[in-house]
Amino acid sequence: MSGYRLKINPLDYLKMKSLIVANWKMNGSRAQWRQWALAAVKGINELPGNADIVLCVPHAALADVETAVKNSNRVHLGAQNAHAHMRGAYTGEISLEMLRDFQVDYCILGHSERRAMGETDHQIGEKLEKAVYGGIKPILCIGETLEQKQSGDTIKVLDEQLLTGLNSVDIQAGQDVVIAYEPVWAIGGKAQPPKPAELEEVFRYLRAAMVQAYGDKGHDVPLLYGGSAAPENAAGLAEVKEINGLLAGSVSLDPARFMEMAKVFEQTKG
Ligand code: PEP
Repeated sequence: MSGYRLKINPLDYLKMKSLIVANWKMNGSRAQWRQWALAAVKGINELPGNADIVLCVPHAALADVETAVKNSNRVHLGAQNAHAHMRGAYTGEISLEMLRDFQVDYCILGHSERRAMGETDHQIGEKLEKAVYGGIKPILCIGETLEQKQSGDTIKVLDEQLLTGLNSVDIQAGQDVVIAYEPVWAIGGKAQPPKPAELEEVFRYLRAAMVQAYGDKGHDVPLLYGGSAAPENAAGLAEVKEINGLLAGSVSLDPARFMEMAKVFEQTKG
């Protein structure tokens, strides 16, 4: 056995890697994008565990952030949206093919801020299918509004968004999809995430839905929570068994707090 080196991290077999996703939205400047990305590249080595970080950046930041993260195999470049068509007369849009050219690994699809601008489940499903088969992992965002929650419709809404979003994705590709539960009413950085019992129920449902759709592979689909995630609530979120990571907007604009949130999440997951 002398000279034998294990090439695979044994931790990967023991538990699913956490995924900590930043959504910078339409914020920052070239200097800040570089600084935030370099902070993640440096900070990830100080995290306990083996989490991966995904930086979902404005399109204008793709080139700078690609350069900043290129030597890290744990900090990934992500985008916030893409068009379903590969090229053509779609002024102001960006294609998945173009994103791939920048080494983009992940793309948020169906964020509630885009749904609010009129994006439909059907359009999101189309983009999702193209992303999966084009080699970009979609992070499908789903979540209910306050009115839907108050009418007791949370699971019904999630079911519709999941079914239509994942409709055309092949079972084999199950492991290439990430689902982010983002209750619309909790987004904004100043609200409180749902209570633990509510989260337990939603995430049990999401895992069951993934297993129903993808069989055993459904256990490998990362399930994220997003909506005012922060260092102060990351431990509580990590205690929900089926939550495999976080998606953060507001906190991701402060690299020290973003990395602190990741650390608390990882420490609690153990
Ligand atoms: C989001 O918009 O995806 C999000 C999670 O935002 P925040 O963390 O600010 O609630």
